[in-house]
Amino acid sequence: MAPRDNIVELPPQASRIGGAWVTGSAWIDVNDPATGAIIGRVPNLGAEETERAVTAATGAMPAWAARTAAERADILRAWHALVLSKRTWLARLLTLEQGKPIVEAEAEIDYAAAYILWFAEEARRVYGEIIPAPTGDTRILVLRQPVGVVGAITPWNFPAAMITRKLAPAVAAGCGVVLKPAIETPFTAIALIDLAEQAGIPAGLLNLVTGDAEPIGAVLTTDPRVRKISFTGSTAVGARLFAQSASTMKRLGLELGGNAPFVVFEDADLDAAVTGAIQAKFRNAGQTCVCADRFYIQQSIYPAFIERFAAAMAHLRSGSGFAPGVTIGPVIHERALTRLEKLIEEAMQSGARLLCGGTRSKGAGTFLEPTLLCDVDHSMRIVSDEVFGPIAAVMPFADEAEVIERCNASEAGLAAYFYARDHARIWRVAEAIEAGMIGVNTGRISTEVAPFGGVKSSGIGREGSRHGIEAFCELKYVCLDIGSGEKAA
Ligand code: NAP
Repeated sequence: MAPRDNIVELPPQASRIGGAWVTGSAWIDVNDPATGAIIGRVPNLGAEETERAVTAATGAMPAWAARTAAERADILRAWHALVLSKRTWLARLLTLEQGKPIVEAEAEIDYAAAYILWFAEEARRVYGEIIPAPTGDTRILVLRQPVGVVGAITPWNFPAAMITRKLAPAVAAGCGVVLKPAIETPFTAIALIDLAEQAGIPAGLLNLVTGDAEPIGAVLTTDPRVRKISFTGSTAVGARLFAQSASTMKRLGLELGGNAPFVVFEDADLDAAVTGAIQAKFRNAGQTCVCADRFYIQQSIYPAFIERFAAAMAHLRSGSGFAPGVTIGPVIHERALTRLEKLIEEAMQSGARLLCGGTRSKGAGTFLEPTLLCDVDHSMRIVSDEVFGPIAAVMPFADEAEVIERCNASEAGLAAYFYARDHARIWRVAEAIEAGMIGVNTGRISTEVAPFGGVKSSGIGREGSRHGIEAFCELKYVCLDIGSGEKAA
């Protein structure tokens, strides 16, 4: 019998510390954002349990780091295979707690698994160096060693991929980890950690603590045994963790908020631009850090683009992520929905025109109809803030110089997209836009093989690609005096 909609078996409703399931006396409910129903609960743990988790990771790490790279790679590959073997269940769990359409959830599980396989492969390529020495009697070697215990903190918008993008390289490099997943989406995280242990990752190496973010974050950022914080989430929280980590001089990887521009020049293929705009804006109901937020359309094609974009948006269908054909799930919670409604209201009061959407759907879930606002400008929060919802805000521009200036007039610098055919322009604009990732004539840029990350307030460091494992390694330089020595006869 086919599985019934939104009836999904949950993993243990517990944290995982030192290879044991841990509960407590206080609990936090987890909701299905499509219905508002409580689907389960997780323990509300705090500082004491986080310290225990750090102790477990610190204890498990040396033996793990001492294993050969090939052994670590084999176990990561076993984790990858287990995740794929549980793809259907994991995707349904993800849709249940996060809301995204099941097709997107399945794609996220594939994406999350791809990071595990990629870093299984990279585990075997953590090379050292030998540097030509300045004198004949010395040899200079550089070792790459695991950075130490990692505190990983992840958001709710990609509850699987944001975890494997950190944990797989950490484990590949030989590190222990304490993970604090977002409180809205703990079950996907728990399931992934469980599968990692089933695959052979030793008990205590990967620990997961659910609960109040502040005390957990305080331990992770101040305990001297934690050597690195790897955070994905909002810029405000990232800045706070950065400051908290200063006294123990931790290494930091920060994947923070975006506010991606999406530019269409008059020489672009307009239909391709509309397809790319739909992809870049509405994936995960607009709740993606690389989502297109501000649409700049060259004046001569502005009316035609808006007309075609609105026509394409009419095919979007919002509803439960489990329902066939649904392309837009709920936004994560009531707080997010109210904020989006306020952004729309403010923009309209300042002169923006509403072409479609703009209202919440009736019923229990937190749904906002896909919304198109045109004639927006930079004085509006819908343009200057990260939108993080299914709202496209569109405005015209005159020329290349103007649009580059507008693209860069943001503290965020995560992703940017533009559509053009002229090759010289493609190079000029790609080089001039201040962002860590640029999509040219495409609305899809995320892949495990490329370095993911931002500039300016969008963060520090890169995840994925061959650079992703470097963040979990330290360099150690060894200077060896071999003496002038008697040459062997
Ligand atoms: P968030 O509010 O910053 O939360 C992210 C994580 O930080 C959650 O686990 C949260 O825990 C935790 N947290 C909050 N306050 C904390 C504190 N004082 N100490 C320690 N941890 C704390 O962000 P979000 O709303 O979940 O995610 C959306 C944001 O993430 C957007 O800005 C988006 O652009 C960004 N993002 C960036 C990337 C990237 O790769 N650059 C990828 C995905 C998302 P609780 O859940 O318990 O509050």
